[in-house]
Order: sequence, then C-alpha cells, then structure tokens
Amino acid sequence: MASAASRFLAFVLLSHAPLGCGAAETAPRAAPTRPGVAAPTPTPGPALATRKFGSVEYVALSDAGARLGLKLTWLQRGRKISLVGPTARAELEADTRDVSINGLRVFLGDMILASGGRLFVSRIDFERCLAPQLRPGFGVPLLPAPKIIVLDPGHGGKDNGTSANEKTFALDVVRRAQKILAASGLRVALTRDADVFLDLAERSAKANASRADLFVSIHFNAVANDTKTSGVEVYTFAPRTQHSTGWLGRKDDPDLEIADMPVNRFDHWNAVLAQSIHRHFIGDLKTYDRGRKLAHWGVLRGLECPGVLVECGFLTSTAEAKKIATPAYRQKIAEALAAGVRDYVATLESLQPKPATVARAPSP
Ligand SMILES: [Zn+2]
Repeated sequence: MASAASRFLAFVLLSHAPLGCGAAETAPRAAPTRPGVAAPTPTPGPALATRKFGSVEYVALSDAGARLGLKLTWLQRGRKISLVGPTARAELEADTRDVSINGLRVFLGDMILASGGRLFVSRIDFERCLAPQLRPGFGVPLLPAPKIIVLDPGHGGKDNGTSANEKTFALDVVRRAQKILAASGLRVALTRDADVFLDLAERSAKANASRADLFVSIHFNAVANDTKTSGVEVYTFAPRTQHSTGWLGRKDDPDLEIADMPVNRFDHWNAVLAQSIHRHFIGDLKTYDRGRKLAHWGVLRGLECPGVLVECGFLTSTAEAKKIATPAYRQKIAEALAAGVRDYVATLESLQPKPATVARAPSP
C-alpha cells in the first residue's frame, strides 16, 4: 500500500513535473531488503571539516576542491566559482542546486550556500555527486570491471507508460542497445523482451538474480498540455538524506527514505554511471540537457549494483516525438546508451589495479 507521502509524490509528479513515468514509477517506500547496509563513504586523508547549516552537514568548496586536486577560481566573488583540473571542470553558484559538471547540467541534493565570503556544499553532495563525477573512484572501494549488463525497458503489458508508444519504443531501444553491447563482448540481459507487465521490484530482483554489474531503465517522458518541452533526463536514486529533485518542499510530503536502500551502497558509482550515460545522450543526440536528477524510483531502490533511469525524450513534444517515432533515431538513442555503458565500463577498467610486474630472475 502506498504511504500518504508516496501518494502525494505521485500526485506531484502527475500534476506538476514533466515525468512520463508518473505514478507507475513511484512505488511505495518499501522496507530495505538489506537493512543496516552502510554506503561506502570513507574519505582518503583526514575528514574534511564540516559545518552545519540547519540540520545538514556542509563542507567548504575550497576544501572540497583542494581534496580533489582542483583549482578554485572565483567567477563572481563570494557567489560563483569554478573548480578545474586536468580532466574535470565544475561551476557552482550560491543559492542553487543546479550546477555544471564537465559541461553537463547536474542537480545537487542540497542547496549551495554562501557564508563569510566562502561557498559550501553539503557533505553528501561532495561525497556522492561532485567527487564521483570529478574524480571517479575517489574515497570508495573499487568495483570490478562490469561484465553483465541488465537493461530494463520501462512499463509493458497492461502498463503503457505515458502512452502505448512508451513501452513499445523503450523495448525497441533496449533491443537495439543489447545488440550493440553484445557485439562488444558484454553479456546483456533484459528484464522483459516482450510486451508483458512487470512490477518495479521484480525488475531489480531480476537484475540481482542475473548478478548484474550495472542496470539501466529506459523510459520516454511526457508533460500534459505542452507540445514544446523536450530533452533528456538521467536519474539516480536519491541518497538517504536527500529529496527528489522535483520535490516541492511540502512539509506533509517528507519525500525521504527512512534508511539506506540497497542501491545507496553504490551512490558513488551510480553518479559515475549517470555521468557516462548523460555525456553520450547529450553529446551524441544533441538534445536539450534537462539534467542529471535525483528521485526515489522504485525500479532502482532494490538494486545490488549501480543503476540509473533515463528519460530519453518527450513523447508529448511534437518535434521530439516525431524523431522518436523513427527507427533511425531510436537506433541513435541505442548507440548513445551503448556508448555510455561502454564509457562506464572503460572507466572502471582503467581504475583496476595494474598487475605487478614480475621481475625476471637473473640468468645464472
Ligand atoms: Zn516511463
């Protein structure tokens, strides 16, 4: 049974936010299947000094940037900064959660704050959003290079999604991506390969049973009475203390989890995977970047591996729906998805410890 909070969230999503998945993706807040599992957040070196604003722990961006080896430059003194390293760049501004990381639009879980001439980000945003996207692998246990990919075409059977096209196009994109990824030597399983209904928990359970190393759920978006809104959104499951990006701040809607969910063990890698996929969707499809966002999607909650949900475009946009209806554009989406997955696999491969060089014994 849905809690009052999740019923309200469903109402919010249906009535305000342009989220095609709507209520179907907003499952009740299930109890954690692995209670007590703590997210891995050790930080190399001494912990950064924290300071509380309200009930949230924050770290100074100057300290966070230095910890990641990035140079801090004021773009607007006291208000807006850039953090730059050899392969990373972020721009952050006070009083917003909307930041730019490596050219992509990313929503933090907490507001950036200015105080005493310095900027602060929440400790959770530093550890689970900025660090993974600016320096993958920083401060967390490494995962093995992925071998098994599970792709999840949203909806199916009696559940059409935003329209009958959503479940059909999602399955078509996923089948195309499966072919591309299988050709590059990865094992790819689908949660459904026909027009059948699966509930949200069944999807993550199937991924877990397949021993998936990563999971991507594919959807198409919709917004009522709007034929213009278009673009891509990439979602990760919100860390325990953070709200969904679309939360409206209503006190009677807590929009928070009561504990870490299984997928929160992978918050760092969820962000790394999201970035890889986000980069290819925006770069390869040349579509509008609606951002990497947080939500409590039921399909991600129970995962025992990193996972993301992608809203690949709006079926309510006259122009975008026309493109999505063509097999050629769905092939491009599949290629962007496959490239994003391969990018994440390559990142993890590059982080694996190098085998020690065996010294050759001197000849007698
Ligand atoms: Zn959907």
